[in-house]
Amino acid sequence: MRVPLIAGNWKMYKTLAEAVAFARALKEAAAGFKGVEAAVCPPFAALAAVAGELKGSSVAVGAQDVFWEAEGAYTGEISPAMLVDAGCSYVIAGHSERRQYFQETDENVNRKVKAALLHGLVPIICVGELLQEREAGITEKVVQSQTGAALAGLKPEQVAGLVIAYEPVWAIGTGRTATEADAQQVIAFIRTLVRDSFGDVAAYGVRIQYGGSVKPENAAGLMSQPDIDGALVGGASLKVDSFAGIIKACG
Ligand code: PEP
Repeated sequence: MRVPLIAGNWKMYKTLAEAVAFARALKEAAAGFKGVEAAVCPPFAALAAVAGELKGSSVAVGAQDVFWEAEGAYTGEISPAMLVDAGCSYVIAGHSERRQYFQETDENVNRKVKAALLHGLVPIICVGELLQEREAGITEKVVQSQTGAALAGLKPEQVAGLVIAYEPVWAIGTGRTATEADAQQVIAFIRTLVRDSFGDVAAYGVRIQYGGSVKPENAAGLMSQPDIDGALVGGASLKVDSFAGIIKACG
């Protein structure tokens, strides 16, 4: 059975002190939850301190991005080994904000996924359509192309262990959540794509999250859908109460 993963993407929020205080409070708030996994993805500057604070707790740490090279003259970048060294076990790849503002391509997402896996990090691969793409009726085409490119060249057993986040871009930070039925439909479609290319074991094992304006009030309904294996949460992951409320709703 797949264990749902609730991952908080803090984006470019929280100072070091704020991040550590949050981790301390979350550790306590999330202590009793069962049947659900939780992770936070702070900015790079706070990764090691948050990982130190959460050590031995049930909450894992992830990064928001990674570069694919092991080391070198790549000013501003961070390697997979550096993330592992800082205490990360997850890394987000291909978030729509990186695609929109930093020219992240499908090809580079694939490079990042491969590099992350090589170093033992679990990638959380983001895919999702723009509003105009949904309105044009090409959601499945977009998601198929992003998923296919991100997973190109992977082995079925690698795919079985990773996380895909279906995040319709129009739902991110807008308060406009996909309906449970729409989220389930696209996520089931992604699982079928995985099955067609990588087989039953990969399709059964891969965790596919929903992301886009998830809150404590809508989390349980979304998570009750058979193919939705957790959530990638932005805004509501910035407050301990709301993030813990989402974890609780999914356990
Ligand atoms: C996100 O940034 O991945 C996200 C889903 O944000 P929000 O929850 O704020 O919509």
